[in-house]
Amino acid sequence: MSQNETVEKPTNFIRNIIDKDLSTELHSAIQTRFPPEPNGYLHIGHAKSICLNFGLAQDYPGQCNLRFDDTNPAKEDLEYVESIKKDVQWLGFEWAGEIKYSSNYFPKFYQYAVELINKGLAYVDFLSAEETREYRGSLTEAGKNSPYRETTPAENLAHFEKMKAGEYQEGECVLRAKIDMASSFMCMRDPTIYRIKFADHHQTGTEWCIYPMYDFAHCISDAIEEITHSLCTLEFQDNRRLYDWVLDSLVDFNKPTRPHQYEFSRLNLAYTVMSKRKLHQLVDDKLVTGWNDPRMPTISGLRRRGYTPASLRSFAERIGISKVDSMTEMSILEAAVRDDLNVAAFRTMGVLDPIKLVIENYDADEIETLQAPNHPQNEDLGKRSIHFGKTLYIDRADFIETAPNKKWKRLAVGKEVRLRNAYVVLAERFDTDDAGNITTIYGTYDKDTLGKNPEDGRKVKGVIHFVEASTAQPAEFHLYDRLFTVENPVKSDNFEEVLNPNSLTVQQGFVEPGMAEAPKEQAYQFEREGYFCRDSEADKLVFNRTVGLRDTWSS
Ligand code: ATP
Ligand code: MG
Repeated sequence: MSQNETVEKPTNFIRNIIDKDLSTELHSAIQTRFPPEPNGYLHIGHAKSICLNFGLAQDYPGQCNLRFDDTNPAKEDLEYVESIKKDVQWLGFEWAGEIKYSSNYFPKFYQYAVELINKGLAYVDFLSAEETREYRGSLTEAGKNSPYRETTPAENLAHFEKMKAGEYQEGECVLRAKIDMASSFMCMRDPTIYRIKFADHHQTGTEWCIYPMYDFAHCISDAIEEITHSLCTLEFQDNRRLYDWVLDSLVDFNKPTRPHQYEFSRLNLAYTVMSKRKLHQLVDDKLVTGWNDPRMPTISGLRRRGYTPASLRSFAERIGISKVDSMTEMSILEAAVRDDLNVAAFRTMGVLDPIKLVIENYDADEIETLQAPNHPQNEDLGKRSIHFGKTLYIDRADFIETAPNKKWKRLAVGKEVRLRNAYVVLAERFDTDDAGNITTIYGTYDKDTLGKNPEDGRKVKGVIHFVEASTAQPAEFHLYDRLFTVENPVKSDNFEEVLNPNSLTVQQGFVEPGMAEAPKEQAYQFEREGYFCRDSEADKLVFNRTVGLRDTWSS
């Protein structure tokens, strides 16, 4: 989409703010950023934030940075950095220029901390963790000033330099902003802005043993990158005071064009969890097979499940941006992918729960090749060859001994049905095993019904799918259900108790021979069964069900 094209996008409070900032010429273009912490894989909530930040930069004159917010070396890893880059690109977005790392700004953070110390706006505090808690006060009670609060700038500077030189132990002291211990916003009660941590950093190695806190590093990173609109989720609402305080306290940034923070509500999706901590738990406790398990709400899991970039972008648009916290129904996500795949996915036939159908009036040596459209509404997608022969597989659920009523549109003894893309067949009898399970169905076909109705005016309403047995490829189907049995699993004390034991069903069946070469992650509709994609990890033929053909969640 070109920037000049005017596309009607639903407006929201952030767009209104940007419209105003552009019309008053506060900014001539916008600069946004997506600032993930590389401590896990991205999830669908991040996709909402990515679509917002990169989407605004596409719709307005402007750009969006990808910045790794990597100020906490303990939990971060390069594996996450790589996965995040891949996910953002896969979603269809391009970041402006080089990738940014907050760790690139470590020398600047240090310099700005020194500026605060020199201005008497920061001090090195030696209270113990317990004392700090005690001095902080509570929501109903003001805090108390630390005895180190009045240390002179010169002394504080010396202490801070010693912190940096590794001369104090972890936890022995911290650098705190000197704001207001009586503030009604807890985050303004002299927040810690630097702490000691003897840890290897994935970008800077052992160069630093002091690391800035999020609230100090984030606003300065935004300001260095000349971000105009810094968008984050609602839980940072109070921290906006600190964001503003830090920038207004520094000469480089105290000007009207400096960044401003705006908060929107985070995505919560029903029957799943969204916090990285909880997702880590699922992975670490092996409750799923990994970050990209197709049941995970991660971008990599959704990709492996068969979600397309367009479907996730469309989902983000459907849910919109607001300041109201809510729980989003899974059916909205599923509708988005269904709408996309209905147009885009090639049709094919697969039998998930196979049972043999033997056509007794068909020559045992013959295999016939028929042409089937790849998409019923889109001839441009072409045709494929399918096979027909004496022995076929149909789905067990498509046959019943006696039709329950006249509306039965599948096969039953004495009833006719059309085999999709092929002939009308009549079921005549069947075999059972010792337990009474049907093993093989026998019937006949009407050879004058290929692509047309029976000539004597018999009405055949039902259509079922099939594959020819001798050419069929064995395939495994993975059918997914919600991962949890409750709408909001984080409310539960024991995570494992609310996991859905039936979140994955594996079925062994057959697909058309052409599917042996199905590209990985390519979307298909197995007719009458749903949308599937070839699993990207398995060597054998495994198809993951992305979503069923109809909404089964809201019923
Ligand atoms: P989590 O809570 O899952 O650990 P986080 O906020 O710690 O996520 P970050 O890597 O810091 O994860 O997030 C990067 C960006 O994505 C932030 O701007 C954050 O506000 C946004 N984000 C994270 N989760 C959601 C969500 N559920 N909905 C919308 N935006 C989100
Ligand atoms: Mg975070």
